[in-house]
Amino acid sequence: MSVLITGASRGIGRSIALALADDHDIAVNYRSSKDAAEEVVEAVKQKGRNAIAVKADVRDPEAVESMIATVIEAFGELNAVVNNAGTVEPALATEIGDEQWNRVLETNLTGAFYVTRTAIPHLEPDGDVVFISSIGGTGGTVDASYAASKAGLHGLTRSLAREYGDRGLQVNAVAPGPVETDMNSTIVEYLESVAFRGHENIGTHLPEYACQPEDVAHTVGYLLKNEYIQGEIVNVNGGMQFQ
Ligand code: NAP
Repeated sequence: MSVLITGASRGIGRSIALALADDHDIAVNYRSSKDAAEEVVEAVKQKGRNAIAVKADVRDPEAVESMIATVIEAFGELNAVVNNAGTVEPALATEIGDEQWNRVLETNLTGAFYVTRTAIPHLEPDGDVVFISSIGGTGGTVDASYAASKAGLHGLTRSLAREYGDRGLQVNAVAPGPVETDMNSTIVEYLESVAFRGHENIGTHLPEYACQPEDVAHTVGYLLKNEYIQGEIVNVNGGMQFQ
């Protein structure tokens, strides 16, 4: 079994790579962090699985095609894709520049679409696609570009499950709340700088610890093992928000 994880050089993607390495060969996609991606490859190999690092900017459809071809050549098959690569350029709707808006949408939504549409013809029967969304995709945030990109993933998840479910493709999304990574520190700084209190809607029943990348990674692992979850957005937010 083999899986391609986009944006697996750092943060949540790295954790997904290590969690799935229990029973998959892993293709570690990255955009610029080559050394970090190679380190993830080594960590996967330490677990006794095959792994490769593949550079591709998910916004570039030609680079995506070449990445999928490289993965098929390396592993001879592709069983699952985890669309994890993402970015955030937080700004209020009246203040965001066009380039910022487009970069976020192109990375988080269009990039995930490019990767998925290119992978689908290669995915083995019973293949899986998982999108890493966000709590903002359903609840909105004070950062419209990010929330819109993640809400778009929810439409993509459900549409692809309808379009390709009868061919055995399983398509789901995992929607984390704040997770301790590089990206989250950017978001927290932004929330503080615009004087919003980022965690106003946290319930009283949140776990004692901040959500870790592993909490998301193990949910992805569960989805790949389960045959009966289809077209779902699975929240991993400790109860901050319900669907
Ligand atoms: P992160 O630490 O900032 O890592 C981002 C990853 O995405 C890196 O591996 C980066 O590659 C890759 N990437 C960015 N742009 C790319 C592009 N154009 N093409 C290919 N790869 C690209 O982020 P994270 O916190 O782990 O977030 C991972 C996913 O979880 C994202 O989709 C994010 O929206 C989602 N999420 C995060 C949180 C949170 O609080 N952290 C909460 C909910 C959802 P390089 O290292 O090569 O730059």
